[in-house]
Amino acid sequence: LDPTNEHFSPEELDVERKLRPLSFGDFTGQDQVLENLQVFVQAANMRDEALDHTLFHGPPGLGKTTLAHILANELNVGIKVTSGPVLDKPGDLAGLLTNLDERDVLFIDEIHRLSPIVEEYLYSAMEDYKIDIMIESGPNARTVQINLNPFTLVGATTRSGLLTSPMRARFGIQSRLQYYNTELLSTIIERSASILNVPISMEAAIEIAGRSRGTPRIANALLRRVRDFAQIKGDGRIDIKIAKFALQALNVDAHGLDEMDNKILTTIIDKFKGGPVGITTLATAVSESAETIEEVYEPFLIQQGFIMRTPRGREVTEAAYKHLGRVRGSVQGG
Ligand code: ADP
Repeated sequence: LDPTNEHFSPEELDVERKLRPLSFGDFTGQDQVLENLQVFVQAANMRDEALDHTLFHGPPGLGKTTLAHILANELNVGIKVTSGPVLDKPGDLAGLLTNLDERDVLFIDEIHRLSPIVEEYLYSAMEDYKIDIMIESGPNARTVQINLNPFTLVGATTRSGLLTSPMRARFGIQSRLQYYNTELLSTIIERSASILNVPISMEAAIEIAGRSRGTPRIANALLRRVRDFAQIKGDGRIDIKIAKFALQALNVDAHGLDEMDNKILTTIIDKFKGGPVGITTLATAVSESAETIEEVYEPFLIQQGFIMRTPRGREVTEAAYKHLGRVRGSVQGG
């Protein structure tokens, strides 16, 4: 149940695609973001223009990729998908750009990880729909400028802070996605359950939702695991009893904190007296990269009020002690 999707098997990714909403109407939550996007898409459609370049930021699993696909559907255009780390040569980017039809969407995931050369190259494409390409080599080498079809770049990033300011400035539309509350997540779970053809009670949907870390991707992943338990240990339907049993067996805690979330909290308490501790020191102590802590774990822990960011580093709150059943000042294990 890693909130980053890198550890999902191909079958799981397949199910994930099946559960992906395809239109604005299918998409739950993020109301403000959605309302604005609907206006911009409608206006672009009326003028028969490409939608402005759009940037989505926020933690993994909240719907950035889903929204990129929805935009393409609602604009009635094609979409090409790539990601920052994959696009390492301007030539790769040129190939994608020259193959875009008018008003198409080019989706670049993890756009903060583009190499500076590729990023630079993207600027003129975004701004004037023009790129320079090098033709021939040796003494005959020269660059020619070619015109691209007007297109929409949709970028997604977990860390808008890492985006260069010239890059950020080129996005006319910028939206931040928020964690989902339990009610929204239970709606998403009920929708997914009906796509997967598994009966679920409202109470069970709420139970799973409350432990999904505010994240639709996790909600769907938990639903699939609970479905397995319902099938093997029950009669196939997901009721509150089987949901609780499964979530317990899966070691998912009441707040939806996962193993790493809890490890971060206990480490700050046990090794750093509750903090403050610097992010690099903390990262070493829990054997995870500082980047992943900052973009995946910390935002949720802060949102839930378990961690505070202070000028001197990260500190756990009273709520974290309570959650872990600890008393401030006492040292576990001497
Ligand atoms: P991100 O790109 O932000 O990491 P994704 O768009 O890949 O997240 O979403 C992960 C999964 O969560 C998708 O497969 C989709 O099924 C589900 N999902 C995300 N947002 C929503 C939503 N608002 N409503 C329903 N399902 C959603």
